[in-house]
Amino acid sequence: MSLFSVKMRSSARGTHISGAERIVGEQEIDEVCAAMSRRALAHGKGQPDSITITVSAIEREVVRVPALPITEATSRTPAEARDVVLGAIAPLTAHAAQAWELVTSVRDMRGAILFDAATGNRLEPDYARGVRVTSMDAATATGERPEAGSGKTRVADALVLASKVAHHPSVLAEVCISDDPDYTTGYVATNTLGYLRVPNMKPAGSAVGGRLFVVDTAAPADLIEYLEHTPVLVGES
Ligand code: AMP
Repeated sequence: MSLFSVKMRSSARGTHISGAERIVGEQEIDEVCAAMSRRALAHGKGQPDSITITVSAIEREVVRVPALPITEATSRTPAEARDVVLGAIAPLTAHAAQAWELVTSVRDMRGAILFDAATGNRLEPDYARGVRVTSMDAATATGERPEAGSGKTRVADALVLASKVAHHPSVLAEVCISDDPDYTTGYVATNTLGYLRVPNMKPAGSAVGGRLFVVDTAAPADLIEYLEHTPVLVGES
């Protein structure tokens, strides 16, 4: 079956609001485009004045990776969330506190920070934009898609992204805080820990949001190529 990439991004007055992507069979394209535009219009960050949806045939081989197993921490405040995240990443980098400071101070990036575990330096070519992970979806490429707008969709999308990211050998960990002011549960993901949901990563109403990948390479060109362009379908864990 030939597969297609369907990508959506929305913005208001030039500022990014939301994005989404599917890898689907031809018969699903119309339904997925409709669901994506509904979801863009319902985003908590505001009403978009621009929604762009792109459909393109996938010409390369698709990589299949397992989903990370999901667990949940019991953090009740941002301070407790910080302890959970530092507990997960401190064994991987001596600069864990600096990584937390970074990911809790950024906002309005479209992509992720690449954080060098060895030095604490940022490695992404464009600090304002970050590195955007694209070309991925859940392996259930037909049917069984959660309804747009439900909490389940959000977890499913983040799990797909986190599973693609964690699969690359240069990635040690990921930390994510949603930029939706109404959604304060973030996550930290590693290959050993899996996908750990972390409640109360930020105060309710905060516009802070970002992603940070702790990496163990100083030359991230291959990693960036994988994150941006290798098509990945994420299956059962
Ligand atoms: P979201 O979970 O969609 O609210 O996104 C939270 C943050 O993660 C955003 O502010 C971006 O910095 C980053 N982000 C969102 N989507 C991606 C992506 N596809 N690849 C890398 N970073 C992303």
